[in-house]
Formats: sequence, C-alpha cells, structure tokens
Amino acid sequence: MDRPVSFTLDFEDLRTDPTVQEERVGIVTDRILDRLRELGIRGTFFCVGELASRHPDLIRRVVADGHELGVHGLHHIPNDLLGAERFRSDNREAKTILSELAGTEVTLYRAPQYSLIPSTPWVPEILSELGFIASSSVLPARSPLYGWPGAPSNPFRWSSGLIELPSPVMKLGPVVVPFLGGTYLRLLPAALRRRGVRSADAETVLWTYCHPWEFDPDEKFYVYEHGGWLVSRSGWWNRKGMLKRVEATMSPVAGKPLGEIVASLGDLPTFDPLTSELTPASGHL
Ligand SMILES: [Zn+2]
Repeated sequence: MDRPVSFTLDFEDLRTDPTVQEERVGIVTDRILDRLRELGIRGTFFCVGELASRHPDLIRRVVADGHELGVHGLHHIPNDLLGAERFRSDNREAKTILSELAGTEVTLYRAPQYSLIPSTPWVPEILSELGFIASSSVLPARSPLYGWPGAPSNPFRWSSGLIELPSPVMKLGPVVVPFLGGTYLRLLPAALRRRGVRSADAETVLWTYCHPWEFDPDEKFYVYEHGGWLVSRSGWWNRKGMLKRVEATMSPVAGKPLGEIVASLGDLPTFDPLTSELTPASGHL
C-alpha cells in the first residue's frame, strides 16, 4: 500500500455453545503470530479479558513477540447491552487481567463490534476514569450493526481526555465502509483497498482489524449470538487466503502499533459525546 497500515487483531471467541463447538482461537492465533514474527511486524492485540485468562501463555507470547495489548471487553458483549455500571466493572476486571499478563498497565481499548455509539456516551468518561489512554472504537458511518455517523474520521479527543483513533472508512457508492476491516479485507478486491488507502486524509491513522476466526477456513458454521444468520454467514466468506491479503495490505512497510502512534500525536480536536460538537485543536484556533 502507499501508506503504512497498522496491524490490529481482536482476540475473541464467538462460539455460542463451547460444549459442542471446538475451540480453535488459540491454534489460529499462534499461526498468525508465527507469520507476523517472520515478517517482523508488530501490532496491537485487543483481547477479551475472560478469553485471555483462559490462554495466559498465548497472551504472554503476544507480549514477548513485541506486540501491544488492549482490552476488548470482558465477555465481548456490546456496550449498549451492558449499561454503564456493568461496563465499568467488566472493563476494570479485563484491564486487570491483561495488565497482569502484560506485566505493565494496559491502557488501550476497543469496543466489541464498534459499540461506542451515540446511545453509549458514558463510555469515554468511564474509560478515562479506569486509566485508559486511547480507544479505537468508533465507526464514523452508518452500519448494519453499530456506528456513529457524523463522528470525526480523524484522531480526536473525547471530552474526558481519552484519545480516539476512529476506524478508517471509504465511500463505496452510497455507503461508507470500514474498508480495512475483517469483512472488507475478505471481500473487497485489493485495488479498491489501495484506492481507499491512497484517498485517505493525511491525518487519518490507517489500521487494519481482523479476528482469529477469519484466518480459519476449517471452522464449522454456527450463528453468532449478537448477529443474525446473514451476518454470521458473511463471517465465513473468503477466509482462505486471509493471511496473504492482510500481508499485502501491510506491504511494503507496516504501520506502528497503535499505542506508539498515540504517543506521537500532537494537539487534537475535542469531540463531545453528548452534543456531538467538535472543538478544534488549540493550535488551530
Ligand atoms: Zn470483537
């Protein structure tokens, strides 16, 4: 691609009945880690707390390989279903689990299914209260699942001080899509992804996100708990060759892990989650 794209993975397990369905997330993530090591790519792994506590050795390997850790909820329940109080206690627990495994404080967060939306405006405030520094949880577009149309598409600060790196998006006909994300990585032709990267605003932080199951063509089909049959079915499309597509997206040079990018950002505009008002960065007043 013409500009560096950072690698991020959402480490999650979507099985609806673990007593019947085989767990494959560990094997598949190990494979992904092997390839990243060969390529010399370091990324950011957003992990579901409960799943991380079941795979401590794998999470320690993620850290030992030089990747960053972030929190992806405690059980991968969308925030609007959790409510503010449970969001606070769940993410406090997930942060503790991951920080202990990392041996350092984990301060990055990504909402399950981009569920930082206008009806969950309390999320940034609680994340700041819990000691998080940055999030990559907003899809600034309409979406069949979760999105925040009208939210900025370049990095900004929430009123609480938390930094947000919104999902990179591009216009495809009448819709705006997160073109570097899992489903689009599996389905869009490479030429369109290249166009998206080339046409992205210079200030947009480009990151790709995917999930272990997307690299697993052998997993047996089931219907996700928080998605219907069609959404679930689309999760099985074109899993074969996923690793190659991700590699091509990050070639010739991959972007830095998100935490390192956040540390290098200057003044940012502030976005108020209650009013959707954007205040320019102080340097631009
Ligand atoms: Zn997720």
